[in-house]
Amino acid sequence: MINQFFKDMLKGRSVIRELAEYATERGKEIGYENVFDYSLGNPSVPVPEAYNEEIIRLHREESSMFLHGYSPSPGNPLAREAVAKSLSKRFGVPYEMKHIFMASGAAGAIAHAVRAVTKPGDEVITFAPFFPEYGPYINHTGAVLKVVPANTADFQINFEKFEELLNENVQAVLINTPNNPSGVVYSEETLKSLAEILEKKQKEYGHDIFLISDEPCREIVFDGKVSPYPSAFYDNSLSCYSFSKSLSLPGERIGYVAVNPAATDADILVTMMTQISRGIGHNCPSSSVQLAVMKCLELTADMSVYEKNMNLLYDKLTELGFTVVRPGGTFYIFPKALEEDAGAFCMKAKEYDLILVPADNFGAPGYFRMAYCIDTEKVERSLPVLERFVKECYKNA
Ligand code: PLP
Repeated sequence: MINQFFKDMLKGRSVIRELAEYATERGKEIGYENVFDYSLGNPSVPVPEAYNEEIIRLHREESSMFLHGYSPSPGNPLAREAVAKSLSKRFGVPYEMKHIFMASGAAGAIAHAVRAVTKPGDEVITFAPFFPEYGPYINHTGAVLKVVPANTADFQINFEKFEELLNENVQAVLINTPNNPSGVVYSEETLKSLAEILEKKQKEYGHDIFLISDEPCREIVFDGKVSPYPSAFYDNSLSCYSFSKSLSLPGERIGYVAVNPAATDADILVTMMTQISRGIGHNCPSSSVQLAVMKCLELTADMSVYEKNMNLLYDKLTELGFTVVRPGGTFYIFPKALEEDAGAFCMKAKEYDLILVPADNFGAPGYFRMAYCIDTEKVERSLPVLERFVKECYKNA
């Protein structure tokens, strides 16, 4: 018999994917250049040339077995060592190779991290607005996802509501900074307060509470700033990273979990993850890309494009009267819709070939997300269309 659980999931397909598919179909009718597709977070800038050069070098010079053979389950030791060194240097957390687990993107990293520190029935808390895939990421482990409502003033953490949700069943807290969809970077104050509360609650409940920090956009930060590194503030932390966004490599499926050396059982968590891999079929990360990314750990694709796009959109949105928090990073912006029903708002925008994503699934009804990882020229052409849409549909806005 087929599995009813997954069959039922077909009813709840990803709104983002559906809109992206619509945009592709619409593009066949009117030319994709005329569809202002702000749906999908697929990086739009090329990988750094150094990555291409390294991939070519590896393929020319290294043996086929070394490049294409099975990777050890926790990842290639050379890549793990390089990641540990780079993180220690950049953020002052003394990682060693044994703390690094290479995984297939942030999704693979989170799949391992959550299973390592929770069991079915435990609660995991996250904060709205959140990446909708956190639903399946967490619920498929058997743990239960609980969501703290958004602090819409600045999209930092709503600590009052967080404390209300905390209870003895909470074994892990999942954060995402810089944040998809709000674009907001959690401040040092936010991370300090979060750590203080978690320390206090660990003592009160007499058990560990792990902080799982999802950071695929760690390097996409604007105004010359650096995103504060959550694991530097709290010992029981697992940092989940992906090269999908920083190096524009989402299709290569590579990332890692970095276990804070001061965490409980830090020396065995990575080995435990290799056992988790055996059960979820995500064992042995891709071999050749690990070897290439380890040479590009402190490089990024050209992030200036995203900052330029953000400024163009932020200026236009504020000029048009939208309530919007200026993103500190990522390639997402998260304005309030001009009517209560963000779904209806986005449907109207679609008539203008503006593809915007309503944020009900992000835990913030009434808002919408624009993923501006598209060409700047297209962003520029979309601005008068956005203006026309607002003026024609919301004259009094
Ligand atoms: N977490 C967040 C917040 C994301 O935005 C994404 C992808 O968009 C992921 C995790 C998954 O990343 P990856 O494609 O590297 O698995």
